[in-house]
Amino acid sequence: MAIQIKTLEELKVMRRAGLLVGQTLELLRSSVKVGMRTDALDAIAAANIKRGGGTSNFNGYHGFKGTICVSLNDEIVHGIPRDRVIEDGDIVSLDCGAIIDGWHGDAAISVIAGTVDLADQKLLDVCEESMWRGIAAGASGARLSNIGHAIEQYVKSQGKYGILQEYGGHGIGTEMHMEPHVINFGKAGFGPEIVPGMALAIEPMITRGTHKTHVLEDDWTVVSNDKSHGAHFENTYCIAPDGKPFVLTAIDGGLERLKSLRIEVSDLLI
Ligand code: MG
Ligand code: MG
Repeated sequence: MAIQIKTLEELKVMRRAGLLVGQTLELLRSSVKVGMRTDALDAIAAANIKRGGGTSNFNGYHGFKGTICVSLNDEIVHGIPRDRVIEDGDIVSLDCGAIIDGWHGDAAISVIAGTVDLADQKLLDVCEESMWRGIAAGASGARLSNIGHAIEQYVKSQGKYGILQEYGGHGIGTEMHMEPHVINFGKAGFGPEIVPGMALAIEPMITRGTHKTHVLEDDWTVVSNDKSHGAHFENTYCIAPDGKPFVLTAIDGGLERLKSLRIEVSDLLI
């Protein structure tokens, strides 16, 4: 299947969905507290998406029960919101999506509740920075595999981290998961050329130990085989018609973080 190419008008609707996702994640970031149940975070997200005129793309997705995924510690992704209580020092990974007028946004952050373990904080910082480097490497004219290459190179430069291999980023638009699949490792210079109108969700998932994972009996939660802590960051970005990137799920469109990587963002979607 071909990669979906969006018009500027369509990207503007995706920006509305993306901004709602970004704002919901910021609300969740400030809401995470020790002693809170993970389904309380889900309720906050559901209310905010509804208030913003969106609908959840996660709820009911292959039977998923929840508006967001909440994954703690050795759970890397796809944790189901439930009665589990967040404890002091927990890594809380929050994955959120929304649809507005048929167009999707998808993003994720990891935060630490309460007392911060410095090695966990570094894991989160490395994961987040690798996501930005992946987006920066996915400029107009680049080959798709340049993204995963940039993510892996950065993560490896920072220490012994495991990069999940069975999960990755994806095209996004009128569906949440579309072509192409975007792996978070590998050589540069392969795959389709990235061109204006494309939108991709970039989402490195890394651990402090092994890259190997398994799925819990709930059929969703992905945990590391060695119980090492994990992190997950995600943003949806596009290439605007002017050939410049714009991060649809970042409040500032990616301006600040991409500037630090000497990448100029498009002003067509602000
Ligand atoms: Mg996501
Ligand atoms: Mg995604």
